[in-house]
Amino acid sequence: MENIARSIQSKYSFFDNLWQTWARNGNFLKLELKNIKWKNKPAHDGKAYVPTSIEHFANVVTHGLWIIPAVYATFELFDKSSTREQFMVALVYGSTLIFLFLVSTFFHCVFFCNSHNSLKNALHRCDRAMIYVFIAGSYFPWLQLVNTTKSLVFTSLEWLIWILAALGITYQQLYHERFKWLETLLYLVMGLGPALVVIFTGHEFNGMTELEIGGLLYIIGIGFFKSDGRIPLAHAIWHLFVVLAASVHYYAIWKHLFSTRMIVSDI
Ligand SMILES: [Zn+2]
Repeated sequence: MENIARSIQSKYSFFDNLWQTWARNGNFLKLELKNIKWKNKPAHDGKAYVPTSIEHFANVVTHGLWIIPAVYATFELFDKSSTREQFMVALVYGSTLIFLFLVSTFFHCVFFCNSHNSLKNALHRCDRAMIYVFIAGSYFPWLQLVNTTKSLVFTSLEWLIWILAALGITYQQLYHERFKWLETLLYLVMGLGPALVVIFTGHEFNGMTELEIGGLLYIIGIGFFKSDGRIPLAHAIWHLFVVLAASVHYYAIWKHLFSTRMIVSDI
């Protein structure tokens, strides 16, 4: 009887200790979470926002995790390519997808380490330039593979997207971190402009619904892109919207341009 009582007591004290440790750790965790600085003050005009440590970490992770899946997704397109044009699209679109995540992750890593200021600035410019390149890269598969009848609109847009990207990059190199709203407007014009031309000239792609959903996700994401210092982890949330939108667009390309026979809808 005594043994049973001792055994119950020892078990009870074990659970009691466990509970106390858990409560102590819980309090510690709560305190730690409370001490984390989730955002800094918004940047002044002409200056770049300085993220907090947790924001730096989130920025690296939210794009870094997607480098390998982007490489895999590109190989998947190569695997499904049966024409020269499809190989070309897999190469161009896949490269822009991989470099988008690669350059972004590299930039955010260097920024996090905060040791190489000139390298950080150069990578920041590359990171922003990749947005223009990636927009052009996202249009490329559709304009290249659906334009079998060589429509004037599609053929013009095929050139125009790269000219717009070059202009955007030139502007961005000249006026880096100045006129920030104009920079965002340029992203929007380049992202939405060609799509509106396609729609208003009566053309249609097979994966229009996915393309519109992806476009909408990018537009919602811009709200976070412009909210550094106002919303905690805003830039990392913008990254996640980019991942989501790019995934939807990739799915549309994979499904409509590489997996099934294309149906061209032209006038
Ligand atoms: Zn970023």
